[in-house]
This record gives sequence, C-alpha cells and structure tokens, in this order.
Amino acid sequence: MHHTFQPTLAYATEMDQQDPLNYFRSQFHFPQHQGKDVIYFCGNSLGLQPKNAAKAFETELNTWQELAVGGYFNGTNPWLYYQEYLKPALSKLVGAKESEVSAMNALTVNLHLLMLSFYKPTPGRYKIIMEAGAFPSDQYAVETLVRHFGLNPDDTIIEIQPLDGSKTLTTQQITDVIKATGSQLAMVLFGGINYYTGQYFDLATITKATHEVDAIAGFDLAHVTGNIPLNLHDWEVDFAAWCSYKYLNAGPGATGGYFIHEKHVTNSSMNRLAGWWGNNESTRFKMEKGFIPKQDASGWNISTAQVFNMTALKASLEIIDKADIHALREKSIVLTNYLAYLLQQLTNINFEIITPADPAQRGAQLSLYFKEKGKEIHSKMIESGIIVDFREPGVIRVAPAPLYCGFTDVYRFYEILKTNF
Ligand SMILES: *Cc1c(COP(=O)(O)O)cnc(C)c1O
Repeated sequence: MHHTFQPTLAYATEMDQQDPLNYFRSQFHFPQHQGKDVIYFCGNSLGLQPKNAAKAFETELNTWQELAVGGYFNGTNPWLYYQEYLKPALSKLVGAKESEVSAMNALTVNLHLLMLSFYKPTPGRYKIIMEAGAFPSDQYAVETLVRHFGLNPDDTIIEIQPLDGSKTLTTQQITDVIKATGSQLAMVLFGGINYYTGQYFDLATITKATHEVDAIAGFDLAHVTGNIPLNLHDWEVDFAAWCSYKYLNAGPGATGGYFIHEKHVTNSSMNRLAGWWGNNESTRFKMEKGFIPKQDASGWNISTAQVFNMTALKASLEIIDKADIHALREKSIVLTNYLAYLLQQLTNINFEIITPADPAQRGAQLSLYFKEKGKEIHSKMIESGIIVDFREPGVIRVAPAPLYCGFTDVYRFYEILKTNF
C-alpha cells in the first residue's frame, strides 16, 4: 500500500474515516481536558482503561461476594483456571503455542525467575550480553543476578554501545559481539524494543546467532507485546517476559506474561523456583511431598492466581484479539510513518528523531530529541491536551497506539509544534 501523505487536517480526517480500526477508540476511557478527550500518546507507559474492565471487575467481585471460596470452581470464570483464559490471546500476540505462555507476578520478578532457570554460569561460560542503556530495572536485575552467583558484574556483563555518532545499534554489531564472546557466552538478555530510543531489534537473527554459540536467548518484551506481532516459537527464542500495563492496557501493576519455548517446558528437570500453582492440578490438592511440574509454561507458576490483577488483562485481551495484532501493526506502521512525515515538514524547530527511520526497526513509538526547548514543548503539549512523555535531557517519546490513536491526533501534535515554536 503506497501512501502519498499530505500535511493537512483534511487528509488526516479522511485517513481516520477510512480506518477500519477507528471504531476501537470508542472502547476506551480517555482522561478529560477542558471537557474533551485528551490525545493520548503514552500507551507505551500506561495504556488507557478499556471500557469493559469495570464490568469484568464487577463480575469477580460478585463471585467473591456470592460464592466466596466456591469461586475457585463455580464462579463465572472459575478462579482455579484464571491463567488459562489468557493463553489463547497471549499466544497469538507473541507467536507461541498456548502451552508456551502463562501469566504471573510482574515483569521484573518474572525476569529474575526465568533467568534463574536459564542462567547456569560455569568458570568457562558465564557472560551475559545486554544492550547499553537497557531499562534500569533490567540492569538491576541482571547485575544482582550476577552477584547472586558470586560473580563480578564488570567482568560478566557485556553492554553493546552504539557506534560513534549513532544512537542505535546495528544487527551486525550485535551478532559480531555474540560471535566474539563465543564459548564464554551464557545468555543474551535484550530488550525487544529499547524503551528510550524505540529501536526494535531483530530477535530472530539475535536468537540464531546466540544459539550458534550454544547460549540462551532471552528477551524483555515490555514495549513489544501488543505493539508488534512476534514469532517466538518459530524463532526458537528460549524465554521472554513482558508487562501488561503498556500496550496491553491491563492497568497499573497488572500481572505480567511470559514465554518459555516448548523444548524447555516439557523438561521436568529444568531448574526452577517452584510453588504449588506450578504443580500438576490432579495432585496439587493432595498436598503431598514432591513437586510434579505441569508440562507447559504454567509449570513455572508459583502462587495462587492473582485474579484481580488479571481481571482487566482478560477484558483488554478480548478487545485486542478482536482488533487483531496483524491489523493493528499494519495501521501502526502507516500512523507512525505519518507522524515521521509530518515532523519532517517542520523547519522551525531544531530536533532529531532518534528512533530508526526504517519501520521494520521500530514499533508505534518515535523518540524525539529536542536540542533546545524540550521542556517548553512538553509543557505546551500537556497544556493543549496531548499526553506525551518527557525524559531528560530533552527526549519526548510519542507513541500513537493504533488501538485508540488516529491520524488527526498525530496531525494535531504536528500543528502545535508548527504554530507555537
Ligand atoms: C516497563 C518496563 C519494565 C517495568 O518492570 P516492572 O517489573 O513491571 O515494574 C521493565 N523493563 C522494561 C524494558 C520495561 O519497559
């Protein structure tokens, strides 16, 4: 599909009218600004509330009120199987078998648990490769994991830095470091999309290179799940984890999701920190000694399903599933390309788009580095009812999530930059 973009409101309006996904914005609550819906470009941080969430909470509250402990077996959605309800939609989003995904805890906790399963340092093979400038929580997790094994982070963690003059990495650079580390490499733990630059990495190629040196490939997909469709099973990714409050719109602190490849989940001898929820259901309530893990990713579940932390997730996934991640991605590419196109028309402001120009190397988000007036521009946006995110030293992250953002929203952002600065 070729788009001859135009920097006009009429064009943007027509694009919205022709957009088959435009209907989905009516399924979300928008914060209000001067009596009108805000334009919300912060879905990469906290997604909007789906309108079906309130009803979903009411259903579970009623079950608790009316059935109490009976809710585990006889509720509208028996709580005993709550994770099961999420698996069909989650597996489609990440390109996995249902047996390869589950939900529990939150993202950083799950990264810790999965890394403890997969990272088995030996004197010869112990190094971990990450992208430089990874999300701080991931940096802390890896650093403390390494110390937990009595190793020195400086000698163990290899951070790949952008080459001179660049803000992003090339796939070649990443695979070169993997090759060079060779038999010393134990694990790659990369963000799927770097939260700051918005760069989407080539997960398939990174995984392949990692396996060529017999190491483990794990990914943090916080900014990817619900943003870009994946093929984790076919790419043979070993493990991945993500949160549910960004592009999955499941609300603050919602239960996180994770993927473990089929070849590992059926291996009962895989290391794990276990709890009764990962035990085979047929023997779980016999309360006997001896952990018998479920033969799928839920064999890593530990505690009783956190039903209220998964309620909005279940509701939100119903909407995302209806919209279809492939259709969302198709719209997202055009929408973010339109934003990039509009920004290129601006001659009055000095800024740089640090996110890669190639749509295959980014999701919905563009990160804009304003060499001056960054704070001022951010304030003007908020004052105008446009919610965007600001990071020092002047980066504004703009993420038009295709589920509830449109072309006129993007146009309005451009218009404010054009007429006020
Ligand atoms: C959002 C995000 C987190 C947050 O982790 P929580 O444990 O859910 O607080 C961690 N890592 C990355 C890459 C993120 O984008």
